[in-house]
Amino acid sequence: MIYLDNAATTKPSEASVSAVMNALECFGNPSSLHKLGVEAEKLLDKARAAIADSIGATDSEIYFTSGATESNNTAIFGAAKKLYKRKKRAVTTTIEHPSVTKAFDRLEEDGFEVVRIAPNDNGEIDAADIINAVDDNTAIVSCMLVNNENGRILPVDKAFSVIKKRYPQTLTHIDCVQAYMKLPLKVKTLNADMISLSAHKIHGPKGVGALFIKKGVVIPPYLVGGGQEKAFRSGTESIPLICGFSAAVDELKCNITERFDYVKSLQSYLFDRCSECDSIHINSSSACSPYVNSIAVKGLKSEVLLHFLEEHDIFVSSGSACSKGKKSSVLQEFKVESKYLDSTIRISFSKDSTKEDIDKLIEKLCLAEKTLCKIK
Ligand code: PMP
Repeated sequence: MIYLDNAATTKPSEASVSAVMNALECFGNPSSLHKLGVEAEKLLDKARAAIADSIGATDSEIYFTSGATESNNTAIFGAAKKLYKRKKRAVTTTIEHPSVTKAFDRLEEDGFEVVRIAPNDNGEIDAADIINAVDDNTAIVSCMLVNNENGRILPVDKAFSVIKKRYPQTLTHIDCVQAYMKLPLKVKTLNADMISLSAHKIHGPKGVGALFIKKGVVIPPYLVGGGQEKAFRSGTESIPLICGFSAAVDELKCNITERFDYVKSLQSYLFDRCSECDSIHINSSSACSPYVNSIAVKGLKSEVLLHFLEEHDIFVSSGSACSKGKKSSVLQEFKVESKYLDSTIRISFSKDSTKEDIDKLIEKLCLAEKTLCKIK
């Protein structure tokens, strides 16, 4: 099996699976005062320290969630709720994940003026455009660091550094899901008040993630109840999933740059091999994260191509897993020509991907080109 859909999800590592299994045995509730509870709490604290360390944060700045969708919703709605009496503007981009886009749609319905920054003619989000969209009336600005459909890296750190100096009260949020453990991330240089992370994109389990909230920043909770996570995120913590998350982080925390360089060499190889085939168009570029690559096979429908590759045990995605075969509005925003939109597939690598995987992929893409019907 050749799995090239790592931006949708990754295969959990052995260490992560065994951490989940071991923690299932330790079934105490971390809020219980007896020794089973204390044992579970120790696992929780250890995991929190590992996640904090991975982004240069302190333990008290990390809140566990059910994944990045919840982290994004919590950050955006929390910031809006905190500031809505004084600030009625919210800024984001047109190329965010739906868990951000739809949260901003809701802010708009609730009376916020939402500004959505689009990529420029070169298909890049300009830091100056983000900066200029923010004013004294802005409650929240939220931008992703790496786009999940084409790997484009946004200049968020640069933009946020200016914004935080000019408007210290405006809250800044980054969806770091596709960057985490792939680019070296440190909260100090990202200039973000809040950062969303997800475990299942880094060889951890699904259903767990984290929200970093910078010390001193206070937003209201999204989930209320029993007061877990310092009353910020109620609900009994899933110790097994959290331990699986931290085991995945422990495995990846070293050699981020070396792995990046390895995956970069795969990206160059993929692009070289694609350029040998006249029928393949590359939507991404070498400036994009090498982990996420968007290509189109002229005249072939993405979904047909995806299933053809699947028959040969090669797994890719059409656009993003969340767009489920619909024409990607994100790629349109990135100025991908309409003739390529229906023919786009996403090749997303992990540390385990190889050149041999790419050779097999190209071989089957060429076969598809010869044997499948073209779109008129
Ligand atoms: N943001 C981005 C950029 C993503 O790629 C994803 C996953 N598709 C999410 C947020 C949502 O993450 P989760 O599945 O953990 O809710």
